[in-house]
Amino acid sequence: MENRGERSPVGSVSKEQVQIERLASVKKRDEDDRVDTLAPGIRPHTFDDYPGQESVKENLRIYVAASKRRGEPLDHLLLHGPPGLGKTTLAQIVANELGVPFVSTSGPAIDKPGDLAGILSSLQPGTLLFIDEIHRLSIKVEEILYSAMEDFAIDMMIGQGPSARAVRMDVAPFTLAGATTRVSLLSRPLLGRFGIQERLEFYSEIALCKILRRSASILGMQIEEAGAMEIASRSRGTPRLANRLLRRVWDFAEVYGSGVVTSQIAGDALLRQGMDPCGLDRVDRMILKTVYHQYDGGPVGIETLAATLNEDRSTLEEVYEPYLVHRGFLARGPRGRYLTDTGRKHVENSGSTGWEQDGI
Ligand code: ADP
Repeated sequence: MENRGERSPVGSVSKEQVQIERLASVKKRDEDDRVDTLAPGIRPHTFDDYPGQESVKENLRIYVAASKRRGEPLDHLLLHGPPGLGKTTLAQIVANELGVPFVSTSGPAIDKPGDLAGILSSLQPGTLLFIDEIHRLSIKVEEILYSAMEDFAIDMMIGQGPSARAVRMDVAPFTLAGATTRVSLLSRPLLGRFGIQERLEFYSEIALCKILRRSASILGMQIEEAGAMEIASRSRGTPRLANRLLRRVWDFAEVYGSGVVTSQIAGDALLRQGMDPCGLDRVDRMILKTVYHQYDGGPVGIETLAATLNEDRSTLEEVYEPYLVHRGFLARGPRGRYLTDTGRKHVENSGSTGWEQDGI
């Protein structure tokens, strides 16, 4: 039996999963889709429109060009990394650059093997099938994928009991693009079937600035370079958050200023949104303070920390911890999480810098 990590039994949805669903998809639907509907061009459609992730883009450009030259479908592609970094967007770009249809679904949406068989059997040749949160597919559904990915065929059981028989159905050659925030939860057989695996990293402030200027021009807003930089530095390296904060700052600029997003307006608005000058939000700070005050700087086990904060473990692991570790505030050791010197200093200085208004 493969190591299937912490996945829940087939068909059951844990509290953790519901929480992740809320974070990953509600934010997506409510924020991104609303923005995408208001300004359809805001989601990049080509590699050139997509700032950041340079080495991932460079690799994908080569694979796409080679696949087009050979007239073969692109190898199956896995994109992994924290939420909001552009995995879905990149998969759409790959389909667009290949000139193939894009079909999108998600792990939790595919309940039964028959659901997946239905999707696979209706694909046009060359389609890029995107499965978001692929780590949440049940094992029964996942098993259908193995032969589909390898042989472009699916083996289904028809009927029940003694009259049941296996039927093999061909599917059109396709590319599977999987996205996950938890690559460690993917089973080895599934992971091994992805010929291309790319990890998305947090964005630099320069890349986020480019994204913000692009979004601002599509939305028809005026933004000064320093204003964009102010937002970029407080966006946790994440384009989804950068675009969301941009809209909030714009509201402040319209009401309190001349409509232009300046550094002053951005700074004030972001402070009200709870983003500190290091780009940490309330929950980030609560994590650092809890480790500092209640566990003497750590180490503290993730389960204990989650219980103390009344947060789900997977939310901490998927959403908050990666950025705190990336920025060097928190570290992971064999006995748990602990504050680095930078993390300790951040907590110690937070009272005197004036941004700690939320009482955390
Ligand atoms: P993920 O699938 O990793 O959660 P998405 O692809 O849904 O992230 O991206 C979240 C939001 O951020 C979308 O509105 C998308 O348009 C925007 N976005 C992501 N990456 C970029 C980028 N490199 N340039 C511009 N916008 C981006």
